[in-house]
Parts: sequence; structure tokens; C-alpha cells
Amino acid sequence: MDLGLKGKVALVAAASRGLGHAVAEELAVEGCKLVICARREAALEEACASLAAVGTEVVAVPADVSRPMDVDALVAAALDAHGQIDVLVTNSGGPPAGPFEAHSRQVWGDAVRGTLDSVLNFSRAVLPGMKSKGWGRIINITSIAAKQPVDGLILSNSIRAAVTGFARTLANEVAASGVTVNNVMPGFTWTERTEELAKHQAETMRTSRDEIVAGWEEEIPVGRLADPREFAAMVAFLASERASYITGASIAVDGGWIRSLL
Ligand code: NAD
Repeated sequence: MDLGLKGKVALVAAASRGLGHAVAEELAVEGCKLVICARREAALEEACASLAAVGTEVVAVPADVSRPMDVDALVAAALDAHGQIDVLVTNSGGPPAGPFEAHSRQVWGDAVRGTLDSVLNFSRAVLPGMKSKGWGRIINITSIAAKQPVDGLILSNSIRAAVTGFARTLANEVAASGVTVNNVMPGFTWTERTEELAKHQAETMRTSRDEIVAGWEEEIPVGRLADPREFAAMVAFLASERASYITGASIAVDGGWIRSLL
């Protein structure tokens, strides 16, 4: 299937590793020019080199997505380099795990800035260009927690719901301008974050990392965690010409983890 992505410009946030990096790589393979960010320059340079090896142009800008000024500067750098942004993939580090009473006001505020406000700020910055061209794709990396709350992840469970409400509403507001807005909800997927989460849970529950992973696998009908490339394939499809009639959707890539009918 030709996804029609050759020559399109994709901005992928928080792409030095994990899901963001896998998405950037998949879009590069499909022929997109890339603009990526992460906070740390060294990690960004490494990511940039591995993406450039795919054979595409990559602009890498250090930026903290929870800071509105960084988001604006990143979008300005993308427009400077390529004159347009066709595809926006929002992403950030996940909010910390733990129950409500473990999180201070500061932690809660940081999580809102990183996970919700960043999506609003990116959308605000790219929409005028997409609307004037009559074509655009906004894809937010959210979580299965948006549809089925995950125990112990109250920050994610709460804030992903807000992102979902925002995206669902924005999708209708901009649909007639040729811009689609969708969310992709990763289930348990092998990244450094998952590895850290497994170790953290093992320490808290005084068990081994392997026991924790086995527990996760038992809850996943497919019986294993996902490879980030399995997630990235869905994002690339939603970014494509072929996904022109899909908007306002939240699509899970979760191996069957979510138990609801729809
Ligand atoms: P990860 O920790 O492996 O990678 C996160 C990336 O974001 C890194 O490149 C990091 O440098 C960058 N980053 C973090 N905070 C940033 C900031 N403020 N500004 C700019 N860059 C920043 O995480 P991941 O597993 O790839 O997860 C990505 C997102 O998907 C997270 O929000 C996570 O909660 C969510 N998610 C992941 C899974 C999973 O199983 N991996 C499941 C559900 C949801």
C-alpha cells in the first residue's frame, strides 16, 4: 500500500527513544522529512544520526515539550527548515506512577503541562499552516489508560482523558479544513520506560522484574508486550493519505488488553 507520505514533513515530539523514536523511524522509511525534539542534546544527536541513516532529512531541536516557548521555537525551526508541517505527532515522557496522595501539587501540575498542555500548544502552533494548505494530520500518542484506567496510574488515567476530550472536539472543529485529529493508545510496549516501570514495581512489590513482566503478559491476550514498531505502523497509517476519512478516533495498539466492546 502506498501511504502517500513521500516528501511530507513530520514533526515528532519526544523522539530520542521509545515510541517517539520508532514513529519517527517508520515515517522516515515512508519518505517523510523529519523534525524531532527531546530535552537532552546528546540523546537527540544520537537519535538524529540513526534516523538520518534511513536516508531522510532530519532537523533535531532540543526542546522540553512542557514549556510553551520551547514548543513555539520548535515549530518555528520546523517551518524555517521546511516551510510547512504536514504531520504532527505529539508525545512526551509519561507521568509518574503512584496513588493520588503520593503526588504533590507540583507533580500534578508538571504532569498536566507535559501531557495535556503540550498537546494544546503544539496543536495551536501547527493548525494555521495545516488549514491554509487544506491538509494535515495531528496524531497524539496517549495510552490505553484513556479507555481503561490502569491501577496505580492516576495521573495518566486523569490527564489522558482530557487529551482525548480535546482531540475528539478539535477533530470536528477542523475536519472541513482537511485536517484529521486522532489518538493512538499504546498498550504495554517494550521501551526504556517499560523496563524502568518493571524494575520499579519489582522493588515496590518485593518480587523480580521477570515476575512483573509475566503478570503483564498474563493480562494481554496476545501474550507478550508489543515491539515499538508495531505501534509506529498504526501512527504511519493515520498520517497517510489513506487515512483521510478517519478522524476523532482513539485507536488501541494493545494486543487485546482493553476489555470493552468498542
Ligand atoms: P520513554 O521514556 O521510553 O521515552 C520518552 C521520550 O520522551 C524520550 O525520548 C524522552 O527523552 C522524551 N521526553 C520525556 N519528557 C520530555 C519532555 N518534557 N520534553 C521533550 N521530550 C521529553 O517512553 P515511551 O515508552 O516511549 O512512552 C511515550 C509515551 O507513551 C509516554 O507518554 C508514555 O506514558 C506513553 N505510553 C507508553 C506505554 C509503553 O508501554 N511504552 C504504554 C502506554 C502509554
